[in-house]
Amino acid sequence: MECDYHPSDDRGKLRRFAQPQLMSDEPQLVTDLKHIALLALEKQQENHDFRTWAITDLQMDDAAFDLIVQEIVTDVTERVDCTQCGNCCKHFHIGVDDDDIVRLATSQKISFTAFERSRVMKSEDGDKCLMQSPCEFLDGTVCTVYEYRPTTCRDFPYLHLPKFRDYMDTAVDNTKICPIAYNTLEVLKWRMGLGSKKK
Ligand code: SF4
Ligand code: SF4
Repeated sequence: MECDYHPSDDRGKLRRFAQPQLMSDEPQLVTDLKHIALLALEKQQENHDFRTWAITDLQMDDAAFDLIVQEIVTDVTERVDCTQCGNCCKHFHIGVDDDDIVRLATSQKISFTAFERSRVMKSEDGDKCLMQSPCEFLDGTVCTVYEYRPTTCRDFPYLHLPKFRDYMDTAVDNTKICPIAYNTLEVLKWRMGLGSKKK
């Protein structure tokens, strides 16, 4: 098996953008996870078509497209409460590096070696990831090691990275489980004149 997301992936450089100016008739926020799973399935082809259009037909450079995406991501992230969700923590074997293991071992008051032996496994390609999925540090919908959490947890759902077009396949995949990813794609399609306001 492979780790689901790993800090060695080239997805770690943050960019900051201006605050959004949302229009009142944009698609409404959806946060119910079952509803999102169904809607994302229903919109799978539409989302893939949108990605293809953005890559092949959209006459806009990466910086301009990223700016639009980041305005939307900032707004959606402010309106979605991750502590009421925790869905990503239930779906992946989280990739970790040694810095992550140091932090997590500290949170458990055990040594690096003890943590690694008891909580970390290696994927087929040699990457380290947390053994348990759902994550053992999730309590209901809340991370119990929030200040110590791995980098991959901090960066998920990877919508803040430069050249968003390069990561649109990941974003589309994550619409099935992540309200931030789902709502960002919906508003983005609407802003670009594609998609629908169907809920
Ligand atoms: S460490 Fe925390 S944020 Fe990361 S998967 Fe586990 S519960 Fe979620
Ligand atoms: S990042 Fe997405 S899936 Fe994870 S807790 Fe936040 S809204 Fe839920």
